[in-house]
Amino acid sequence: MPAVYHACYLDYRVRSPASLTADVLTSVIAREHTLVAHNLTQIVSVFKQATSHSSAAACLEHLATIDPTTRVVLFIDMPPREPAFNQVPKDALHGPSLLQRIRSTSSLPKCLFPVALVDDEEAEMANYVDLGAIDVIHRIMQEPRIRGILVQLYRDTCRILPHGTYKAGWICGSMSTSIGPDEERLIESLFHVMFFDQTPSADPLVVTPLLLAHEREAYLQSIIGDWDFPANKLTDDELTQCAYYIFQHSFTMPEVQHLILSPDDLQHFISVLRASYQSRNPYHNFRHVVDVLQATFSFLLSMQVLPPYYTRSTLPQQEGISASSLARILDPVDALVLLVAAIGHDVGHPGVTNAFLIASRSPLARLYNDRSVLESFHCAAFNQILARYWPIMQEKNIKDLIIDAVLATDMALHFDYMRKWDSILLDGEILVADDETENARRKRLLCSTLIKCADISNVARRLDISTHWGTALTQEFKKMSDLEERLGMKNPAATQPDISMRRPTKVLSQDEKEMVALAKSQLFFINAFAGPLFETVKLVVPELRYTADQISNNKHTWEKRLAELSEFT
Ligand SMILES: [Zn+2]
Repeated sequence: MPAVYHACYLDYRVRSPASLTADVLTSVIAREHTLVAHNLTQIVSVFKQATSHSSAAACLEHLATIDPTTRVVLFIDMPPREPAFNQVPKDALHGPSLLQRIRSTSSLPKCLFPVALVDDEEAEMANYVDLGAIDVIHRIMQEPRIRGILVQLYRDTCRILPHGTYKAGWICGSMSTSIGPDEERLIESLFHVMFFDQTPSADPLVVTPLLLAHEREAYLQSIIGDWDFPANKLTDDELTQCAYYIFQHSFTMPEVQHLILSPDDLQHFISVLRASYQSRNPYHNFRHVVDVLQATFSFLLSMQVLPPYYTRSTLPQQEGISASSLARILDPVDALVLLVAAIGHDVGHPGVTNAFLIASRSPLARLYNDRSVLESFHCAAFNQILARYWPIMQEKNIKDLIIDAVLATDMALHFDYMRKWDSILLDGEILVADDETENARRKRLLCSTLIKCADISNVARRLDISTHWGTALTQEFKKMSDLEERLGMKNPAATQPDISMRRPTKVLSQDEKEMVALAKSQLFFINAFAGPLFETVKLVVPELRYTADQISNNKHTWEKRLAELSEFT
């Protein structure tokens, strides 16, 4: 599927005008001026494809050849404010004259959005906007700024559609049916996540004090280190407080003092995240991410990457890190960053799957070329939140680790991660790493794997807690399935046969039918994904073996229940 927006980059320093994609980027930029190489890299990382031009004439020629309905963002490197004599290009159409020409030429694409690249955005903004530029940004381009422009364009496209007919909404792309108020609110809230922190003067979030009794606080402190953490029984205020205690414990490490937030700022950060999750999602809501945060916290405690947390913990007591464990390659900064990634990994989740977004041709899917759509969206939205509420987390190494961890939660990539571990293990033993690069690679893989494990740790929790999560996820799928039906997206052949249609020897009650369906889905998920993953983790980090053991217990119980009920079906 082609990208919705096409990008053109015009800069007289371009040495070899080219059509660019990520595949050819490295070879093309090797020949280019440093600034051009940098800018093209930033553009391709957002648009996936682009063209570069060294003269306005060549650029206009190219624009005249493309489909007039294509939306084009044209980045124009404007003349320096005080050019040295050898910096002035010999192109009559360079800079402002090109903007004027674009306004007066009818043969160009109807949706052509020029962006001026300058040295001083504030000083030069008015000139270029008056001439038709939709935005004015710094000459040294930065990916988040480019992404912001693209997202703004999407928002404007949606806004101009009549109310109630979000044919080009974020969730459903080209559906002929208009969608209901619930979905409209959902789309609005996605916008909220993407944009509420872009107006520095207005913070729409008022942090209301949490309603917690004193005894309750003590109780929460006593359970956050517990593997039987009952997130399903806690209110959102209590979950907020648990997240606060978890971060506060990690803040006690001397090695992370340069990264920590004050208590007020931490409370604010958690409240902002809480507001950016959809409470109407039965599964992908604030409760899920606090549960993932707590699972990550438990793993890091067991691995002794975090200092001991003394509670009535059901975490098995560890003697010390075993010599073979990869736990020793993580440091305190990794631990804190993983906790941050855990609580932000599903920001703005709309309660539908990637498959749904792709099938409905949602602009969100097109924006990310159908690849890891939600996870890419979570990254973009979470980075905006971090930029404002925890800016030091934007440091290159930290940001990279967060992005890796969030993208790793795409289950479509699950087997890629399993293969990566296969290349590190031989007969259950970890191969010796031959150099620092290999060690760094393992560290990143381990970090991503820990978040993956935490994200699917429901099946590794005590059975009653595990059952709660399984039921919540089933409810979310049911809601999505209803939406698919309303939108006419259902393929009848793909519908699961209803077990009540078979010839039963005993009619199952509704509860029993649901139990059979739940047992089957739990067993499928354990056998296909969670079981092998946690077994692998047990080999590389033996301190986490209790998770694989619990999965194996749960599996036997589900098999037994299914066998009992299946006798009647
Ligand atoms: Zn998740």
